[in-house]
Amino acid sequence: MSHFELPALEFAPDALEPYIDKETMMIHHDKHHQTYVTNLNAALDKHPELKDNSLTDLIAHLDKVPEDIRTAVRNNGGGHYNHCFFWKVLIPGGSNKPTGALAEAIDKQLGGFEKFKEAFTNAATGQFGSGWAWLMVTKQNVLKVTNTPNQDSPLMDGATPLLGLDVWEHAYYLKYQNRRPEYVKNFFNVINWDFVSDVYNKTLDTEAVH
Ligand code: MN
Repeated sequence: MSHFELPALEFAPDALEPYIDKETMMIHHDKHHQTYVTNLNAALDKHPELKDNSLTDLIAHLDKVPEDIRTAVRNNGGGHYNHCFFWKVLIPGGSNKPTGALAEAIDKQLGGFEKFKEAFTNAATGQFGSGWAWLMVTKQNVLKVTNTPNQDSPLMDGATPLLGLDVWEHAYYLKYQNRRPEYVKNFFNVINWDFVSDVYNKTLDTEAVH
């Protein structure tokens, strides 16, 4: 009854070279991400009554997930969501720049792009052990840079992720070994800011409706 599936990568696994290498991308997507999907489905098989819940329903409302599978859904549902999102914030051929409302908000709320970059880099390098660095919009519609442990997502706190960077060792170890700061620096060469800007615009549209 498994109902979540591994999405195909929208670009070739070597398309982010030299910043993220082909072998890492293949193992990361085909093995690590697949494992989160497999384990999430196995957990949900125990509770058929959850079969119509979307992934975001599940991880944004973990308190409503039965206790016997809550940790499995947190880790593997979070893992599935975060990785689907991560593949979308990556773009082959070089990073573009934040545009429109997002560019303005970064200037106004985070002190400009360079300040944002510094804060995001600190969040990514400063996450002890496995986790993620994020640019997100809080429930109060404020931009914030933060990090989360394991596969936790800003969605679990009611926030909306805009940009995420996987800082688990499986995301960089083959190419960078212990040099996480170099991986983080190079990530800025492959960010799809058009996607990130679009996600931000949607949060503003949602706000306008309320
Ligand atoms: Mn990962």
